Amino acid sequence: MSEAIEPLTPSTLDPQDWDQFRQSAHGMLDDMIDFMAGVRSRPVWQQMPDEARARLKGPLPLEPNSLASVYEEFQQLVQPYIAGNIHPRFLGWVQGGGTPVGMLAEMLAATLNGNLGGRDQAPIEVERQVIRWATQMMGFPEDSGGLLVTGASMANMIGVLVARTGMLGAEVRREGLGGRRLLAYTSPAAHNCIARAIDMAGLGTDALRLIPTDERHGMDLALLAETIERDRADGGVPFMVIGTAGTVDTGAIDDLAGIAALCRAQKLWFHVDAALGATAMLSQRQRHKLHGISEADSVAFDFHKWAQVPYDVGCVLVRDAELHRATFASNPNYLARETRGLAAGHPWPTDFGPDLSRGFRALKVWMSLKTYGADHLGRVVDHCCALAQQLAARVVGEAELELLSPVSLNIVCFRFLAREHMDRLNTDIVVALQESGVAVPSTTRVNGHIAIRCAFVNHRTSEQDIDIVLRAVLETGRRLAGASALARDPMERAA
Ligand SMILES: *Cc1c(COP(=O)(O)O)cnc(C)c1O
Repeated sequence: MSEAIEPLTPSTLDPQDWDQFRQSAHGMLDDMIDFMAGVRSRPVWQQMPDEARARLKGPLPLEPNSLASVYEEFQQLVQPYIAGNIHPRFLGWVQGGGTPVGMLAEMLAATLNGNLGGRDQAPIEVERQVIRWATQMMGFPEDSGGLLVTGASMANMIGVLVARTGMLGAEVRREGLGGRRLLAYTSPAAHNCIARAIDMAGLGTDALRLIPTDERHGMDLALLAETIERDRADGGVPFMVIGTAGTVDTGAIDDLAGIAALCRAQKLWFHVDAALGATAMLSQRQRHKLHGISEADSVAFDFHKWAQVPYDVGCVLVRDAELHRATFASNPNYLARETRGLAAGHPWPTDFGPDLSRGFRALKVWMSLKTYGADHLGRVVDHCCALAQQLAARVVGEAELELLSPVSLNIVCFRFLAREHMDRLNTDIVVALQESGVAVPSTTRVNGHIAIRCAFVNHRTSEQDIDIVLRAVLETGRRLAGASALARDPMERAA
């Protein structure tokens, strides 16, 4: 049975009138530049109204709509109701602010529509260049393996898998764990993605041993050594230690040099989750706090947090590039490599991670680093750390507030004092601030107490923003606490 051959109707998705498209496109670009330039004058966040939410529940559009009408929907339904991390008073969680150069790079990359799974093409050379720059940042050998990925979650997952291959050999990919009880070590302050990585790697979350922290919120290395010894005696197979450079709760940094020495002595893989902290390697003033990171076997970090590159892009570096490749490479017929032609360029990025098709994330990193320069990004780090120190000092100076943890880098945890229901009160203060649109802090738990948490990550945040946030916390706290508000004795030292 053969289908009748009908005359072709044009099915291209390119515009019939490029000039008209050009005009619409320029209008959108102008709008986006205005949006970025005017970010300070808008609320940080506002909740999406039900009406707008409902309008995003239409059926699959079968017929075309004009670009102008679709863009109008974007402007009405999407643009006003973003999380707000581009705003200078977004201090919640740890999120990057994005940049104008990053915005343009995304457009350029989308135009080329690169697929960086493999093959002989310049975009992959750009990614290799970015990876070499990352090795310089971290003090890794230039021939280390590396890959750009969606974020630190994926980068940590890759670190866990390579460490597993390092311990059991590449046969593990065929044979599985064979009943061996692999054990990994980290602190309770580690990011949740570490437990997820252990889980997804098939090791079972019981394989992740949490070593308590000391008073600086870093892993207690004496306890770590004891636990490893005990686990070995019990028939477990310790294989890796995961240090954190910049914990989510308080920004604390483990003693990386200490962990490196311990791992060397114990023949364990040393991985660092530096999702946030890696960018501090670009700062003359902060770099020393990460001393020891360059001795790691692998590091996971984000460009989309402190380095301000737009979402999403994270990076994994593995000192032993061959082991990295041996963890993921496979060679199906349809991906045969050649020494000439487009199928050359071996090894391909797909040999270093789980993805085959991969976008041109590297361009926005490459353009950001080239345009702004690494020193400028280092100064952003310094600026954020200085803002955190300022806020902490102001908190200590306010009798109604209490600082809840030392400031290691850029995160300040504090609370408004009250005679009763202090956890509820501080949660309510944070929600009220978010809903007011004035500022977005988040909450976390420090030493069992709910804390108001301000993370300084955004390059747009200024001293003036600290004034606004502090005033808003005090006014909201007084209003919500009413008669139960409590002032510290001014002679009492901060906790
Ligand atoms: C943000 C963060 C992660 C997760 O990174 P994603 O880019 O969100 O996947 C992991 N670890 C730490 C310490 C983080 O701050």
